[in-house]
Amino acid sequence: MIADPRRARQEALAAALVAEGLDGLLVASPANIRYLTGFSGSAAIVAVTRGDVLLVTDFRYDEQARAEAGAVARIEVESTSVWDRFFKELATLGPLGSLGYEAQALSVLDAERFAQAGKPWRWKPMKDLVERLRVAKDPGEVAAIRSAAALAGEALRQTLPQVRVGMTELEIAGILEGALRRLGSEGHPFPTIVASGARTALPHARSSRRTLVAGEWLLLDFGAQVDGYCADITRTVVVGARATERQRALYGLVAEAQLRARSCVQAGISGREADALARDVIEARGFGEAFGHSLGHGVGLEVHEAPRLSRTNADPLPAGSVVTIEPGVYLAGQGGVRIEDDVHLSAEGPVLLSDGRTELLELV
Ligand code: ZN
Ligand code: ZN
Repeated sequence: MIADPRRARQEALAAALVAEGLDGLLVASPANIRYLTGFSGSAAIVAVTRGDVLLVTDFRYDEQARAEAGAVARIEVESTSVWDRFFKELATLGPLGSLGYEAQALSVLDAERFAQAGKPWRWKPMKDLVERLRVAKDPGEVAAIRSAAALAGEALRQTLPQVRVGMTELEIAGILEGALRRLGSEGHPFPTIVASGARTALPHARSSRRTLVAGEWLLLDFGAQVDGYCADITRTVVVGARATERQRALYGLVAEAQLRARSCVQAGISGREADALARDVIEARGFGEAFGHSLGHGVGLEVHEAPRLSRTNADPLPAGSVVTIEPGVYLAGQGGVRIEDDVHLSAEGPVLLSDGRTELLELV
């Protein structure tokens, strides 16, 4: 029998609480709640103490909370005020002195509740206690991301043959999102980016009503989600014509930088060193200014999480994390190329989770 990974996560959090001198943590981030308890609803407040896990949710989630989290948490369902009930139940968890709360996940309105109903306890703002645990993925988490990435790759393979000059970016986003759903993606972790022509130079373009013109770039940045875990992929292709020499050269540069980074990235090097694996290639060719974002980010229950692969991160990349490798070169008025794959930084080295099919595609 395989041990429930949620128990190990709760124990790891309890150990972190001891190290911080806390008797418990109020968890409000939905991703952190899912990580610790399995509850996937949108509204709950959780307290993890050194011995108990309490989950308070509302009437809508009664059945779901018991089914998903009942084995690893005490579930309380409240139909009027979840916060009032939370503080009431918290008082039953034994003598608790100082408690942390997730400052990044609570609002100013929530802070007012602490000032009143939270009076019996000493509260300390905490930032990333659970996020730090989430960085190193267990085998089940890696498998879920791998499934999401495979699904995303297949959705793209089903979509590209349907792309025609004259279609709008939004139409293509619709075909892609339909394929993702049909193949089993639970949701779109972020708004699908389909950008064409000069709009591919906008790294976070919104899909628009612009129609595709022959010979232009088409950039698709999209995600898939399996068991709550995200994949994040970008491909850039040429539509309606063979690539020009100029397009081929630009694409080749980004592909070379991406391949170098995804094969050499590993746990233990810093976020800055990882970023440089791709940036050095692009800068050496004189396009450093046109690569204006960082190389990548962690991916898991959230599509953007720790660690950051950027020039400003001097910390070592943790073993077990899953990161995106997504260099891009953007030329204002002309267009841009970005290529993104997902890589698991295993103890044995980088393992590609997405398909890594980065040869230049010409949809003619
Ligand atoms: Zn992306
Ligand atoms: Zn990304």
